[in-house]
Amino acid sequence: TAIPANGHLVLNGTKTYISNSPDAGVIVTMTTHDRKLGYKGIDAIIVDGDADGKSVNKLQGKMGIRASTVGEVVFNNCHVPANNLINEENLGFRQTMEVLNASRISIAAQSVGIAQASLEASVEYAKNRSAFGGPLSDKQAIQNMIADIATDTEAARQLVMHSASLKDAGLSYHTEASMAKLFASTTAMKAAHTALQIHGGAGYFSPTPVERYFRDARVTEIYEGTSEIQRMVIARNLLKD
Ligand SMILES: Cc1cc2nc3c(=O)[nH]c(=O)nc-3n(C[C@H](O)[C@H](O)[C@H](O)COP(=O)(O)OP(=O)(O)OC[C@H]3O[C@@H](n4cnc5c(N)ncnc54)[C@H](O)[C@@H]3O)c2cc1C
Repeated sequence: TAIPANGHLVLNGTKTYISNSPDAGVIVTMTTHDRKLGYKGIDAIIVDGDADGKSVNKLQGKMGIRASTVGEVVFNNCHVPANNLINEENLGFRQTMEVLNASRISIAAQSVGIAQASLEASVEYAKNRSAFGGPLSDKQAIQNMIADIATDTEAARQLVMHSASLKDAGLSYHTEASMAKLFASTTAMKAAHTALQIHGGAGYFSPTPVERYFRDARVTEIYEGTSEIQRMVIARNLLKD
């Protein structure tokens, strides 16, 4: 909540799983001044990283994307100047959705990167690993796996480029952004899974990059809206009229 008091807003509440919050010099938080208003009463507020009453509990044990930190942000009677409100009251939900719709394209692009890296590692390994009398790349089962990763990765890339082009052109892109995020994150997971299979036992150990791609891919199906939520967004947009 954010309650006005003497030219300030007094923040109270907790939000977990906030990327980079342990390191952030400034954060933007979504608050409400009246819970009865639901999503129509949400405000976006800027909070300095060192504001009194704000603390962050760094979360440990993350499966992948370990180069970035994640934390639980806690506000305990945290006072911020009233003019830290972004724009005006009640716009927070709309502002959040604008950011989320665009950042879904970014996560889709991240997913394409993981899928492409999985493909390249697979091609390299299959050409150099010799088993049962010849390179893995001679085995049709391995060739099929590589063909499938390559095809899915290219399709995911085209969805990313298409949704980004729509956004750049100022056209409606929300359904396409969700499609790109849904398909690309599924592709990243499938590609990393297949790449690990192509690497056999070696892929299960950290000296091979595919062990990391497998761990990194998983979260793309979860953050910025899970795959289930992307399906809901796509279906809702198609069925609304
Ligand atoms: C590494 C990491 C970083 C993150 N960074 C941020 C961040 O910076 N900022 C931020 O705000 N959040 C962040 N998140 C949170 C992330 O967006 C949420 O974890 C995600 O949206 C899922 O919400 P939840 O964890 O509450 O799961 P829940 O909502 O409890 O969902 C659990 C499962 O139920 C399914 N489900 C829930 N509701 C429905 C429904 N109505 N219909 C069908 N299925 C449903 C979900 O798809 C999921 O499979 C981060 C999460 C992770 C793991």
